[in-house]
Amino acid sequence: MDIILLGPPGAGKGTQAKMMIEKWRIPQVSTGDILRAAVRDGTQLGLEAKSFMDKGELVPDSVVIGIIEARIKEPDAVGGFILDGFPRTIVQAEALEKILADNGRKIDHVISIEVDDEELVTRLTGRRMCKSCGESYHMVFNQPSVENVCDACGGELYQRDDDKEETIRQRLEVYHEQTSPLIEYYRERGGLREVDGTGNISDIFTQIAANLAGTA
Ligand code: ADP
Ligand code: ADP
Ligand code: ZN
Repeated sequence: MDIILLGPPGAGKGTQAKMMIEKWRIPQVSTGDILRAAVRDGTQLGLEAKSFMDKGELVPDSVVIGIIEARIKEPDAVGGFILDGFPRTIVQAEALEKILADNGRKIDHVISIEVDDEELVTRLTGRRMCKSCGESYHMVFNQPSVENVCDACGGELYQRDDDKEETIRQRLEVYHEQTSPLIEYYRERGGLREVDGTGNISDIFTQIAANLAGTA
């Protein structure tokens, strides 16, 4: 099962993906997580990506398409994956279609998670992430049981450099310009499911699960 989670920064894609992994036993592939790991490790990929990420701009299509091309071949992704944060442009969406087809696969579901901009700013300015496993928390809306410690793995929480208001506004602008056209793109192709991303995290998960099961 190949699933795309579409939505603006802060919509809850990562939060929902972590819950989906447990239920469907397929991996989450987050280009953001992969890029941040590369920046941390100081690899060539990280060096290439960092300046774009710091500015809240998209990393060039060819770079992220290359990441997905490699990731799809790994054994754990053979039975499907949950794409979180990819594709983000029409060019990426077209490349994905081709990569999947070359591997005898296709996108089965596109879940679009919708949240308005002001709520996104509140979510992203209060977001804290786990250094080890990438789990998302929020200082007010989704606190860990122990301050600054990840419930899932015991890792330390941190605030991302790009989760400051100025960069958040830039990322939202980039989303509206370059990524939101994908909603129409997938609507035309059929199979797009729109989910209200506001409210209780577990209620949103129930809605996503119903959509994937075809009972929504
Ligand atoms: P994305 O991966 O789409 O950028 P995250 O899953 O990291 O988004 O969530 C962004 C922030 O919003 C995090 O701080 C997270 O804890 C919080 N969050 C996620 N879902 C909700 C929700 N339904 N209501 C309130 N806050 C949420
Ligand atoms: P969020 O969902 O909070 O916006 P991500 O972790 O998905 O953040 O992405 C962080 C940054 O990594 C983006 O602002 C962008 O610079 C880069 N990035 C991640 N995925 C892509 C992608 N598919 N195409 C281009 N850049 C990407
Ligand atoms: Zn963790």
